Formats: sequence, structure tokens, C-alpha cells
Amino acid sequence: MKRSEVNYDDLSPMMKQYLDIKKEYEDELLFYRIGDFYELFFEDGLLASRELELTLTGKNAGLEERIPMCGVPFHSVKPYIEKLVNKGYKVAICEQLEDPKDTKGMVKRGVVQVISKGTVVDLELLNEHDNHFIAAILDFTYMYTICYADISTGSLFVSNVPHQKDKLISTLLNLGILEVVLQNNEDLELISTLKGTYNIEVSIVDGLLKDQYQSVYSHLEDEHYIRAIQVLFYYLVVKELKDLSHVEEAQIIYQDDYLEMDIHTVRNLELIETLRLKERTFSLLWLLDKTKTSMGSRKLKNWLMNPLKNEEMIIDRYNKIEKLNNEFILKEQLRENLYEIYDLERLCGKITCGSLNARDLLQLKNSLKVLPTILEIVRNLGFDMSLQTHQDIYELLEKAIYENPPVTIKEGYLIKEGYSAELDELKSIRSGGKEFIANFEAKLKEETGIKNLKVGYNKVFGYYIEITKGQIANVSEDFHWERRQTLTNAERYISPELKEKEALILNAEEKIIELEYTMFNEIKETIKKDILALKDTANLIASLDAITALAVCAEEYHLVRPVINHEHIIEIKNGRHPVIEKVSNMEYVANDCVMDRNVNTLLITGPNMSGKSTYMRQLAIILIMAQMGSFVPATKANLPIIDKIFTRIGASDDLVSGESTFMVEMKEAKNAICNATEDSLILFDELGRGTATYDGMSLAESILKYVSTKIQCKTLFSTHYHELTVLENSIPTIKNVHVSAIESDGKITFLHKIKNGAVDKSYGIHVAKLAGLPEEVINDALNILAMYEKGSKKEKKEEQIQLVMNFQDEKENPIEAKLKSLDLLRMTPIEALNTLYELKTEIEHNK
Ligand code: ADP
Ligand code: MG
Repeated sequence: MKRSEVNYDDLSPMMKQYLDIKKEYEDELLFYRIGDFYELFFEDGLLASRELELTLTGKNAGLEERIPMCGVPFHSVKPYIEKLVNKGYKVAICEQLEDPKDTKGMVKRGVVQVISKGTVVDLELLNEHDNHFIAAILDFTYMYTICYADISTGSLFVSNVPHQKDKLISTLLNLGILEVVLQNNEDLELISTLKGTYNIEVSIVDGLLKDQYQSVYSHLEDEHYIRAIQVLFYYLVVKELKDLSHVEEAQIIYQDDYLEMDIHTVRNLELIETLRLKERTFSLLWLLDKTKTSMGSRKLKNWLMNPLKNEEMIIDRYNKIEKLNNEFILKEQLRENLYEIYDLERLCGKITCGSLNARDLLQLKNSLKVLPTILEIVRNLGFDMSLQTHQDIYELLEKAIYENPPVTIKEGYLIKEGYSAELDELKSIRSGGKEFIANFEAKLKEETGIKNLKVGYNKVFGYYIEITKGQIANVSEDFHWERRQTLTNAERYISPELKEKEALILNAEEKIIELEYTMFNEIKETIKKDILALKDTANLIASLDAITALAVCAEEYHLVRPVINHEHIIEIKNGRHPVIEKVSNMEYVANDCVMDRNVNTLLITGPNMSGKSTYMRQLAIILIMAQMGSFVPATKANLPIIDKIFTRIGASDDLVSGESTFMVEMKEAKNAICNATEDSLILFDELGRGTATYDGMSLAESILKYVSTKIQCKTLFSTHYHELTVLENSIPTIKNVHVSAIESDGKITFLHKIKNGAVDKSYGIHVAKLAGLPEEVINDALNILAMYEKGSKKEKKEEQIQLVMNFQDEKENPIEAKLKSLDLLRMTPIEALNTLYELKTEIEHNK
């Protein structure tokens, strides 16, 4: 039965209420709270039962037919929501807004929040190492403005992006945006790319939130930013009913402040996940993440994805690393204390818009506890950081929050003794009551002489006196007991005195729970007032954790402090690829990379598997690490500041978009060539491989020349077209290098060592010989190579093909048959000449 098929007037009052609410949440799955369950009805019920593998039942709603329904218990709802949100559904949580006990008739209900992929706050779904961003994109036709927020931490950013779709998408992917809000659905291409190719949720809204939360943008002047924030906040506040009071002032991200890396670069260099398995393990981030807190881990990722261009800021990070490593005792103390800190950012998020419980507040307390020690260490290190310690909040929590609270906040045991006199008094009544019960039992035993008499409690009947069947005869009328419940071998009674005391105890219990709940919320409100200051602290702690992690890496991986130059010089001594060095079983061969002012292109040749791609990646990684403020894997590094990195490495077939390798290759090449400046770095790995030899070689040559002479950026260009190595003679900015290999004992050994000059041309054939190919094949290959080298291969080859074809054509030819049948030894010269004449005429005739 569908929702649209029912007649509203026939429905029960509750179903009417359901439909009234559901009308406002057509796109969401409505979790409708009834008692201890969230129920889903009609189509929502069918869908949820399918997606969550729940039993579909029915509910009587005043109609003849029962309506489809399925439900989940309220206390275990999280994993269900998580599953649905992960699959791209939105979930609206509808709660009972009144206590059913205090209401006559229908309980008031309302949606309290909507959860979608980008706005998850307190589910297990949140990966502690990643931000969960939701973004609004505004298209101003000459540029895009994006505003993105992580609701779980309260961070908010705005940024303008050039009006190029691939740049926009690269930006969104690099940020890890999960959900996007647009103002209209006109840009179908964008929507289908986001949804279809990259699994990013898209929501359309048509409003602006103008009259709330102005403080997050009151410092901004650019109207574009403000509009973008208003669109995003409209979605979050009006559509999803979020409380955003923990969201901090928007930070402007000028794309230009950071080293620009497109999505191919991030992927090819395996910065945050590996190419093949798409896993964090064995990525550069995995290697560098020595942080102690999840905030620090997210910060480090942010640094890696946004390397700096500002020299002063880079140097500041180098200085801090150096200081930390000089003061290794302080560094260790700092790390130990950082370890005590929980995810302050997300705790702040929970305080304003999540389901905060007392255990969260204990986490907050324990985190704040170590702040004075950390402040002391920071001062001793001489770091310029104005870290607040929030000791007032710490003391409040220390005084107020019970040490061993339950997960929920509606069963008491939240508040410590000594915090509130009123509460303590109620508790003493409660415990006094309990004491009374014990005494009462003893007294009754005494009075009645029934030795095994018991006073007990259950939820249905409250306190009772229990008498075993054998003793019933001893229960006298004079006791004024009232029978309440009969068991197989006992009877239960109540007495007026017991009831009186019971009222007192139960009342106290109820009041305690209520009061603790109220106090908990008051404490929460008190902390909320300081939420932005707490967030500042969280941010500082995150940075401190990230820089300490880099210091630990510097020591553990033997990294060196780079020197920065403004002369376009790259001088790396004994550079290494840090991840391969760490992961591979083999000894890593360190390599220099030297490009002085006059050289901007290294043309790299060498056999397969010799280490060309690794060498190229290594340079990019060293530059990125240097600009994120880290030391680098080398013994010496003198580096320029790079503005953009472009890569075209390996066969990263864009399977999803279904384009051919070669098309992808050319698009990436175009992207590099059109956007690179002389401060950029380009890595072209075996460019042109995806098409026919002459095509590919010609393109490779023309692109190489263009990049080296026109753009003049630093370029590493690996190639298997040895013909290109002669360019070194005509273009002074190109330098040949090669990766060497040696043979010994009939085996080829890759030295992985970069040397000057081009590789020996016959090397490939040499390797083939070592691999044991037949002599005939090798010799033929050498001949063919000789022809190539004379530059005449093309014609020769065509001639050969022509010959073969003619030969095949005439296989069944009568001329051939005749020739074969001739017995030359028995022919006179004249006969032979005549026969030849005949054959010739015949051929001419046949033409
Ligand atoms: P190519 O691009 O020349 O085919 P790769 O860069 O893919 O070669 O490297 C081939 C293999 O050699 C990889 O498994 C890599 O780990 C290893 N390798 C590359 N460079 C080095 C090096 N400098 N030291 C040790 N191993 C290396
Ligand atoms: Mg390669």
C-alpha cells in the first residue's frame, strides 16, 4: 500500500500526524518515534526493510488493510542510520516532543534533525582521520565560489575556484567533499559527474539563510563568500535543522596560497591512498602520520594536501621541527601528553548538535586536564602559541560529572555527590528509603514470626512482601496486608506502611533522574558559551600534534632540513622515495637530482623496471614534503618554491569515465601545458606511449620542446623513444640522464642509479638476449635496429610488406606453376629465352 493511496480522513490520529510530518520530508526516510522504537511506514518501511534486512510488519491505522511498517529499537538506531546514510539516503529523525506520561491524547512529535552523508555528527561512520565536508557550490559564470563545512568539528571555509569544471572537481575531490549543495539543477554535467562518477551526494536548495549566524561571516567583505555561506547554512539549518553555534568564523582559502595539485597528481604520487588498493596503508600520509590525536591526524592530512607557498610559514615549521628534535625530552613529554587528549573538535561538535552524553564530558575533562602541562612545554620550547587551558571548565566537570556514567542521559548517575545540595538530599532520601526497606523487613520478621519473609521490588507492582506458600497460614487479617500477586510457591502482599515509603523512594528516584538531566544540560550550556575558544584550543593542539609528528618523522626516517632558493635551482643529494624506502625489502638506492638555472628538463631513458617512474615521483614528493613544512628524504636539498605540480604517470586509465588511455593522457598533458608556469613542476612519464610509434614520438618531441623552451618550468620527462635524446644537442635547457643497469653471471641487475647522458641504445636487445631469446631473433632485431638508425626503416619495411604480399598473391598463379614445371637443365638457351618471352607476354596480358 502506498502513502498516496490512503484516504487521510479514514486514518487513526497517529497516522494523520505521521502524514502531516512526512509531507515536509518527502525525500528523507522518516524515523518516527513511538515509545522505544523508531518506526518507518509505507514506502519508507518497504525500502528500509530491504536495505536494512528488517522484517516488514504491518500497522493498524484505521484502514481495512494494515499499512507496511518496520522498526528499530531506539537504543540501537545508530548503525541503521549509518548504513542508510552510507548508501546515500537521508534520514529524518522524528522524536516525541512531550513526555507521554504528562499528556492526554496524542503526543506532540516533530523532526529534530536530518542526517545526510555530509552532515553526520556522532555516528561510528565518522572516520577519525578524515574531515567530513559538505559544500555549497555557487556558479557565478566567471568563477565558482565554494563554501564547505565539517559539522562534526565546526570548521568552515570559503574559496573561489576558476571557472573550469575539472579544477572544481579536483578541488572537491582533494578536499574529500561527501555532499554538495547547489542552487539549481541546471548543470546536469556537473551533477552527473559528482553523483555518478564520484559518488558525491547532491542536494538542491532554493533559499538563503540571512537572519541567523551572521557572526561567521561578519568579517567577510566579498559578497560571493557570504552568499555561499547563506546557501549552505540554509540547507543545514532549514532543511536539516542543525544547531550551528559551534561553527567558527569562516576562513578564506586562497587557492593561490597553496601548491596546486590536481587530482591525478594526488593519486599518482599516492599521497593519501595507494593507486591500486585505494588504501591509506603505504601512502605518504600513512608514512608521515605519527600524530597522537585524531585532530592532529586530520591536520597533517590538510598540510599534506595543501603545501605552502609562503616561505616564512614554511621556515617556521622547519624551525619548530628543529627545536623539537633538539629538545627531545620535551618532545617526548609533549607526545605523552598529547596522547591524553581526545577529539576536542568533535566533542565541541557534539556539545552543540550531537547526542552528548556524560562520557563525552569526561573525555573533555581528561583532555583539558593535561593542557597546563602542554602549555608549560610549549613555553619551554619557546613556541609562539597562545594556548588557553580552560581550567574553569575543567574544574566544573571535575566537580560535577560522575566518574562512571551510563551511555544515556536519562537514567541518572551523571552528577557527582557534593555538586548540588538539592540532589544530594534527594539521594539521601532514596538511600534512606532503601535502608528503611531493609529495617522494615527485619521488623516484619520479628513481628510476624515468619522467618523467610522477604521484601522485594519489581517494576510492575513496586515494593511487596513475599511469603512462601507454606507460611501463608501465618498471615493474619490484623496485618492489613493486601494480596497483590500469586506465584507458584509464594504470595506477594503490600501494606500501607510499605506503600507510603515506596511513594517517597520512587518519587525521589524520579526527581533525581530529572534533576540530573537538567543539571547535565545546564553544564552543557555553560560549556557551549566557551565553545569557540575551545575550538581555537583544539586547532592549536592539532597543529602542535602535526608538527611533532613531522619532527618524529625527521628523526626516524633520517630527513634533512631543506634550504629554499629563489633561483629556480633544484639540488638534491641522495634523494630517496620515503615510502618505497620504508616498505621495500631491497636496499633503496639514493639518487641526486640536479637542475641548475639553465637546465629545466631532464630527459630520462633507461630500461623497463630500472626506476624511472620512481625517480620522478621521488622528486615531486620531496618538493611537496618541503612545502608542507617537513624535512625531506635526502642528505642535502636546495629547492625552489613550486606553484603547481602536474603529473602524467603510468596508465591511470580513467575506467569510470570510459575514456581511452590515450585520450586521458592527452587531456592530462593539455592540462599541464595550459596551466603550468615557469615555477611549476611537470612529470611526464613515457608520454605518447598510448598511440602508434611515430605519432607518439612526434607528439612527445613537440611537447617536450614546448615545455622546455616556452613554459620553461622544471620537467622530468621519461621516454622509451631514444630518438629524443638528440634534442640535448639543439636545446640547451634539456639534459639527458639515464638509469643504469648491469649484467653479471647472465643476469641483469638494475642499479636504480641515475647517471648523466643517454642510455646505450642497444640496451633493450641486450636485455632480450640475456633473457634467452633465440639468436636468430636477436640478430634480426639488431639488423632492423641498424635500419632504423639509418632512418630508412620505414621504406624498407613497406617494401618488405609489398614483396610478401605479391608473393602471396601469386601463389596459385599459372605462371608460377609453369615456372616450377620447367626443367632448366634440359633446355637450350634459346628455349629458355623463348619461354621467358612467353611468360612475360602472359603476365602483361593478365594485367
Ligand atoms: P620504470 O619506471 O623504469 O619501469 P619503476 O620506477 O617502476 O621503473 O621501478 C621499478 C622497480 O624498481 C620498482 O619496484 C621500484 O620499487 C624499484 N626501484 C625503483 N627505484 C629504486 C631505487 N632507487 N632503489 C631501489 N629500488 C628502486
Ligand atoms: Mg615507469
